[in-house]
Amino acid sequence: MSDWREQAACREDLGHDPDWWFPNRDDQATINRAVSICHTCPVLAECRAFARSSGQEYGIWAGQVRGAPTVASHGATHCRRGHEYTPDNTQWVRGGTTRRCRICVSDRNASYRKTAQADRRADRLEKVAALLAQGVPKLEIAERLGMHPRQVQRDASTLKGEAA
Ligand code: SF4
Ligand SMILES: [Zn+2]
Repeated sequence: MSDWREQAACREDLGHDPDWWFPNRDDQATINRAVSICHTCPVLAECRAFARSSGQEYGIWAGQVRGAPTVASHGATHCRRGHEYTPDNTQWVRGGTTRRCRICVSDRNASYRKTAQADRRADRLEKVAALLAQGVPKLEIAERLGMHPRQVQRDASTLKGEAA
């Protein structure tokens, strides 16, 4: 994806809480953490330009604290990736003190799901490969692993393709 936000170092799917970029005034540790993550960000310039052109008044953008660093995400008009906090796109958490971007939350969940799926597939292929190598018949592999025989067949072809 070419969107600069996909490369942002502050992405939630990297395990970063968007709130770190909207810290409380006296929370120097959180401010420092966000700023130092910004300084590793490959799209810092794009982020700075976006913050400028969209008139972001609060929070930390491109490693700089804008406006009053005091305003929690309450005051934010956009999420870290620039999605607007419309009522539909807002999820209030922590007793209504913090908002989350629904688009980002669902993106993150999708990416976790994808990873989990890929992990499961790799795990399954490994098991099938091991049993095939032992000369176990495909039907028995299906039985042992609780798989559909056709899936074993497909995996066997995949493995053959990978080996070729
Ligand atoms: S520079 Fe911008 S996009 Fe990059 S980590 Fe900092 S706030 Fe996020
Ligand atoms: Zn978002």
